[in-house]
Amino acid sequence: MSNKWNLIVDIAQCDNCRNCFLATKDEHIGNDFPGYAAPQPEKTHSWVDIVRHERGQYPIAEAHFMPVMCNHCDDAPCMKVAKNGAITKRDDGIVVIDPVKSKGQKEIVEACPYGAVYWNEERQIPQAWIFDAHLLDNGWSVPRVEQSCPTGVFRALKIEDGEMQRIAAQEELQVLKPELGSKPRVYYKNMHLMTTCFVSGTVATDVNGVEECAAGADVVLARNGTEIGRAKTDTFGEFKIDRLAPRSGSYQVQIDLGSKPAQTLTFDLADTSVYLGVVKLG
Ligand code: SF4
Ligand code: SF4
Repeated sequence: MSNKWNLIVDIAQCDNCRNCFLATKDEHIGNDFPGYAAPQPEKTHSWVDIVRHERGQYPIAEAHFMPVMCNHCDDAPCMKVAKNGAITKRDDGIVVIDPVKSKGQKEIVEACPYGAVYWNEERQIPQAWIFDAHLLDNGWSVPRVEQSCPTGVFRALKIEDGEMQRIAAQEELQVLKPELGSKPRVYYKNMHLMTTCFVSGTVATDVNGVEECAAGADVVLARNGTEIGRAKTDTFGEFKIDRLAPRSGSYQVQIDLGSKPAQTLTFDLADTSVYLGVVKLG
């Protein structure tokens, strides 16, 4: 078994600074790497793209960002349509679209289910992020996306597949569109920030006739009578319970401050996160 490249992307750490996007442009615009990649056009290509996803409702809302690029799939759909050996899978796991052999093969763009391949109109070739194979082959230990990211989103690992699967299980990593069976080598940490919903609310209580934030209240979330999550309100009386599957039905929320009668609310979860508003106890 040989060591192969993998990339772990931690969505929780990305703040949308776009250094990785710019570093990839800096590497490829105006630079030709024969055998690896022809120059990237100055406009329209995003070999490393940043996908934005917003969750929640005012006042408890948040935005998350997910870098998306070629996944260097082990069973790559792009390779199945490529002719004349235009796409190769290297022994180290990296997929490279040959900038000469791929000329005129626009079907490679359509074949990628991740939208990671861009058409170079001027040169008439498909292009994608090459995992900086040209740099790794010349002694670099990490690709430029990792080198340029200030918050440590990326972790490039050249390890055996068994070890990668162990890390994926241990850190609960997920790949994009696993149902396709394309076997991506790019793994995402904290994917729930892009794919699941949360319920939140603000709890207030009456203290000597004055409404105040109810800190430390117990919030229990249940579905069909079974507890599936709990939280405590913070200093501002706010709570949040995460990782709820979209369109997962009816929920009950019980809020208990101890000193006041508990309250139970219900809600139906559709596609978006739910803010239950200000719940007044007592
Ligand atoms: S992400 Fe797209 S371009 Fe990259 S290897 Fe997979 S199918 Fe091919
Ligand atoms: S450099 Fe890092 S933090 Fe900035 S957009 Fe890219 S992944 Fe996100």
